[in-house]
Amino acid sequence: MIRRSFLKLSSLASIGINLNLLKNSCSHFLTLSFDDGFKKSSYKTAEIFENYGLKASINIIASGHLKSFNRDPKWMPSKLLGDFYDWNNLKSRGHEIMPHSWEHLNLTKIPIAKAKYNIDKCLDYFSNNLDDFSESNSIFNYPYNSSNSEIDDYLLKKVRAVRVRGGLVLKNKFSNKIPLKKTNLRLGTWGYGPNLCDDFIEKSVNQFLNSKGGWLILTLHGIDNEGWGPISSNYLDKLLSRLIKVKYLSVSTISDVLV
Ligand SMILES: [Zn+2]
Repeated sequence: MIRRSFLKLSSLASIGINLNLLKNSCSHFLTLSFDDGFKKSSYKTAEIFENYGLKASINIIASGHLKSFNRDPKWMPSKLLGDFYDWNNLKSRGHEIMPHSWEHLNLTKIPIAKAKYNIDKCLDYFSNNLDDFSESNSIFNYPYNSSNSEIDDYLLKKVRAVRVRGGLVLKNKFSNKIPLKKTNLRLGTWGYGPNLCDDFIEKSVNQFLNSKGGWLILTLHGIDNEGWGPISSNYLDKLLSRLIKVKYLSVSTISDVLV
């Protein structure tokens, strides 16, 4: 299964130029951005995306696999989280693996010095443990999508983009503009929980497809019964099978939109 999936993504990469040409004709970009790093869910998500020749976006808590991690055991029990063997495995299959903080603290609710320290710790851990990680090309996905200008300023000197709650950057708009510049970006996102998010995703995607275009980033977590606001695997599968047929839409990772 792993080999077959790898071949699928490799063959897509081998025709990358053609895909980029196709992408340039798209008016709508959609990123489904999966947070927290549930092991079972991440493999399942990757498998579903691979079946449609797509890459998944998975955002990892750097210390989630360590014994010290005990943040919010109701929604992210440590026994369900993967480790960097898993993240390197999924990355080698072509998926996007990005930082989702050091220990999932709300960085706006702790002293700024600690927020900066935790950001550095997270990025250092990624540099030392995730194969081919490039800090300057990375996207930092805030826990709770919470941020402020001081934290953004600090991070945007290090990474190319931060993902934050839509209400903080999109004002009255629903989707991001497709950016002309590729760095120093604050990208808005929306999410739903704690119950199953299928209906929210369906409504959001339909509203977006009926709009003039842009880049919609939706924050998700686990699959089926894992995590806050999970998406059901059957629905995700059906959704992607429908979306890959929409000619003006590209379902992409954040990095691929910024290529
Ligand atoms: Zn999270």
